[in-house]
Amino acid sequence: MSDRYTSFARSGPGRAIVKRLGLPDPPRLPRYRSGDALIPGPVLVGPSDGPRYEELAKLLGSNEEGEKHHALVFDATGISTPTGLRALYDFFHPVARSLTPAGRVIVLGLPLSSAADPGQAAAQQALDGFVRSVGKEFGRGATAQLVRVHPEADTAALRSTLEFLISTKSAYVSGQTITVDATPVPGGKDLTGKVALVTGAARGIGAAMARVLARDGAHVICLDVPAAGDDLAKVANEVRGEAYQLDLTGVDAAQRLVEHVRERHGRLDVLVHNAGITRDKTLANMDQTRWDSVLKVNLIAPAHVTEALLDAGLIPAGGRIVGVASIAGVAGNRGQTNYAASKAGVIGWVRALAPVLAAQGVTVNAVAPGFIETAMTAKMPVLIREVGRRMNSLSQGGLPVDVAETVAWFAAPGSAAVTGNVVRVCGQSLLGA
Ligand code: NAD
Repeated sequence: MSDRYTSFARSGPGRAIVKRLGLPDPPRLPRYRSGDALIPGPVLVGPSDGPRYEELAKLLGSNEEGEKHHALVFDATGISTPTGLRALYDFFHPVARSLTPAGRVIVLGLPLSSAADPGQAAAQQALDGFVRSVGKEFGRGATAQLVRVHPEADTAALRSTLEFLISTKSAYVSGQTITVDATPVPGGKDLTGKVALVTGAARGIGAAMARVLARDGAHVICLDVPAAGDDLAKVANEVRGEAYQLDLTGVDAAQRLVEHVRERHGRLDVLVHNAGITRDKTLANMDQTRWDSVLKVNLIAPAHVTEALLDAGLIPAGGRIVGVASIAGVAGNRGQTNYAASKAGVIGWVRALAPVLAAQGVTVNAVAPGFIETAMTAKMPVLIREVGRRMNSLSQGGLPVDVAETVAWFAAPGSAAVTGNVVRVCGQSLLGA
């Protein structure tokens, strides 16, 4: 689905009109291509007396001399009082204009549960408001995130998250708070030798997930309904994976899937519950079938399939489970009581399952896409579509690959300490922010 307004705003005559009338001016968001550097430009780390300064400066290379920076990374884990927040101003104020287009701002904080007293809790909570405001203010495609890191987490636990957030892989992720635990991280950088399953992989976001997971080395089982068989086969061939036709709402679907995985692979390292449907109607006009089908595909089937695979012992230590929610599940949406309930349910399920599976070394996270350019959003009435696209800090819709890159970060071996997170891929949408 093409975004004609953005094409217009970037054209010669369009630029002038957009500027004169003060219309939204969607910035270009560079996307990652294989072989690109994960840290594409100079990074400035501060403050130099922060508890994690040495390790961060070593990991990211702190460039104090340069006039321009791709990323500004601030360690606020040592801020324990509201007065101490002045350090944020002191670091960012002089360098705010040094950020290059599509630059990155990352603030490290502590999990709120580790605050020793109300003063520290206030200071650490303050980071949320600061980061979200920076995301709305800096413009030109810049993003801003808060990473709450466990005091005992080492650099290895943080690395995959910092690399994802600094790289162009996170182009459409902004205004997010991510927690990183102290879980030890195993070796192995990519997904080589891992088996991944993506449901709803025939098109849209699921097809992008299959491509990105395959790029990172995984063998991808691409699952979709038999009616999508042709498209599914194309995606599976392209990623050198396998096509598996299955309607997840079938009575014996979970069992059939378990048999398929057991016979072909004997394990499943990455499970991505992407298949989803909408059947919009206001509640008073909604028939039972619309309610039941949406709840079944989006929430009941993922939980059921996961349980069956876990019970069969097919998800080993190091396993990754990823749910796909939606900002509609955070903010609600008119005409989507069924859909928003199902997607909010995914968030609750992921948060509850993560601590249960932590002991087995399996992580559980969710992505919550905002407005992503796909067949699903192309069906929206034109006005609602235009509002969805523009009502975010980046004034444009995201691409399927933006959601896929976020899933690949969750799936990476280096993300062992990332669990129980719900990360919105929404350009810091005003809905559900
Ligand atoms: P899409 O409609 O383009 O693709 C969904 C895929 O799921 C289709 O190929 C479909 O055949 C498959 N599917 C549906 N029911 C199935 C079933 N019973 N068994 C197996 N496969 C089934 O959707 P999309 O836009 O790519 O969205 C993917 C996911 O992201 C969905 O969960 C959706 O709710 C979520 N999401 C999308 C957006 C967006 O802006 N596009 C926003 C928020 C959340």
